[in-house]
Amino acid sequence: MPTIESLLHSADLPDSPSARLDAEWLLAAALGKTASYLRTWPEREVPPACAERFATDLARRRQGEPIAYILGRQGFWSLELEVAADTLIPRPDTELLVETALQLIPATSARVLDLGTGTGAIALALAAECSAWQVCGVDRIESAVALAERNRVRLGLENAAFTVSNWFAGLQGERFQMIVSNPPYIPASDPHLQKGDVRFEPQSALVAGVDGLDDIRSIISQAPAHLQAGGWLLLEHGYDQAEAVRALLVCQGFEDVQSRLDLGGHERISLGRFS
Ligand code: GLN
Repeated sequence: MPTIESLLHSADLPDSPSARLDAEWLLAAALGKTASYLRTWPEREVPPACAERFATDLARRRQGEPIAYILGRQGFWSLELEVAADTLIPRPDTELLVETALQLIPATSARVLDLGTGTGAIALALAAECSAWQVCGVDRIESAVALAERNRVRLGLENAAFTVSNWFAGLQGERFQMIVSNPPYIPASDPHLQKGDVRFEPQSALVAGVDGLDDIRSIISQAPAHLQAGGWLLLEHGYDQAEAVRALLVCQGFEDVQSRLDLGGHERISLGRFS
């Protein structure tokens, strides 16, 4: 029987900084163990069924499929989330949105909305941090709402709820203290859509018109009708879109308009308050 080390050694993933780590993640999942188990017991033998699953998963990775889709899960904030091919894979950058939202309003009771929730990542992270908040997550895609709901149930978060809605279309008359969103914001012609993991992610979660701002424009124009007085709108956007997004917010009458830097030093989110 092959050993852990011999399988990892012959994994043969295309050369990349994450190749060894990717192979470790896949073998750990096939064995039902952690990556540190693999490092502790490199000489242990791998049963044929596990070796077979590892080979299948490696083949998918060689085609470029993201690890999160192969494993069906991804860590975000403090949570482990189920992911599927019809939702965006939650990114570490988006944790900035969660962190900022948590600083803006007190942890006492509030109604918070997450637009385009996908896996439910942002909504569930906020619900997990603030048990007094009621967090509503909406997505246009039914299967995404079902996935977010499965994540909610598995995490046992009673203070989040998910429904189908195309942005605000299904939320007539509803108002929130805070609205957050990581909408699609990549310009349709951006060459990075043809590269790496994003090739496997749904275009509908990534692309927003010629300048990438179509959905952001639509959210900013509709948000005032759904914010309570003094309520905040927080949007994630592209690394070079902060100025444009701030201008849209100001134009719409938002106050205290500002942006925050992500881990890479780019202005990644912008926010404003509506009175
Ligand atoms: N940050 C993502 C990327 O560049 C895009 C996410 C989005 O469009 N909301 O791959």
